[in-house]
Amino acid sequence: MAEKRDYYEVLGVAKNATADEIKSAYRKLAMKYHPDRNPNNPEAKEKFTEVSEAYEVLSNPEKRQRYDQFGHQGVNFGPGGFDFGRDFSHFQDVDLGEILGSFFGGGGGFSSFFGGGGGRRSRPDPNAPRRGDDMTFRLTVEFDEAVFGSERTLDLQMPGECSQCHGTGVAEGGKRVACKRCGGSGTVVGGSSFFQVRQTCPECGGEGTTIDKPCRKCHGSGQETHEQHIALKIPAGVDTGSRLRCAGKGAGGLRGGEPGDLYVLLQVNDSDLFERDGMDLYIEVPVSPVDAALGTKIEVPTPDGAAELKLPPGTANGTVFRLRGHGMPSVRGGRGDLHARIVFEVPVNLDKKTKSALEDFRKHQKSVNFPELERFKSRERVFFAHKEKLQKK
Ligand SMILES: [Zn+2]
Ligand SMILES: [Zn+2]
Repeated sequence: MAEKRDYYEVLGVAKNATADEIKSAYRKLAMKYHPDRNPNNPEAKEKFTEVSEAYEVLSNPEKRQRYDQFGHQGVNFGPGGFDFGRDFSHFQDVDLGEILGSFFGGGGGFSSFFGGGGGRRSRPDPNAPRRGDDMTFRLTVEFDEAVFGSERTLDLQMPGECSQCHGTGVAEGGKRVACKRCGGSGTVVGGSSFFQVRQTCPECGGEGTTIDKPCRKCHGSGQETHEQHIALKIPAGVDTGSRLRCAGKGAGGLRGGEPGDLYVLLQVNDSDLFERDGMDLYIEVPVSPVDAALGTKIEVPTPDGAAELKLPPGTANGTVFRLRGHGMPSVRGGRGDLHARIVFEVPVNLDKKTKSALEDFRKHQKSVNFPELERFKSRERVFFAHKEKLQKK
């Protein structure tokens, strides 16, 4: 299956869109792509399923929050993946009756449009214990946290077992019955009259059974959101792309199944002082040309505090000093280096005294003070001599 598109993108709304904006965006698209308005147009049907799925999630505050935290992973659960046929409650408040009533003759038959989803191969046992999904959470941390390590608390909306039905999806007094649509096989024949294909049964998600009385709390999915507070230790030396594993902190298992793992995928913000390349750090240090000419001691910031750096007299602009072992720490131990590059800052805002001091210097400076300038001038003389010779011919 192709990778799923972002739900906000599907509906064409901003990440911070209000419930009303989401609703109206969905209404517009649902009208446009409704299968009854686009007969024999599989592309429109696909679009319709896509926008409906996006709306299903973004219109539900709990699911939307999970989606914002975990992406598709946070909301795609239940038998057969996206659970269209079963969980319809949020569609009532969008006045879908208004949109769909005329097409469907009121209610029912909706799920017939959503065949072929899921892509499940083997028939799952709805009563077997199920391990919770591994979840990936993206976390942005500051550069300083990557240098020194830090502790964070993650407040996550984690899918887990429904407390009402304990993961069965069945309400008290209800039971699983053979699916009427597929007769218990889990698949149905679909497609056009020319090309018939076997697809996962949209009614039961391939399980072969449906619930006669679904749990009211989870609408039969067996899952609900659990608020989780996870203490996360970020070790010194992490980088963008580092993945931290929190065993057993992922989605809760169902019916006695083990919980999944939580992976925290890190994005480390840039520093406004250092450039980073793996374990090595780079820094540009502004220096007065006068200091560089006379030689002095300067301070260079490092992760270990200010380090003293001795500038020898006559230090050139752009000189790089390597401070061994003052770079980034590594998660596996060891330290990189810090490369400090000298960048001359020409003095500005001169007052009378400093100006006259510089004028005095200019008066007394000699060509031997500027050997590079001398070399440049002699190359220039050679060039113009050649030019004259060639142009005379
Ligand atoms: Zn339940
Ligand atoms: Zn079925």
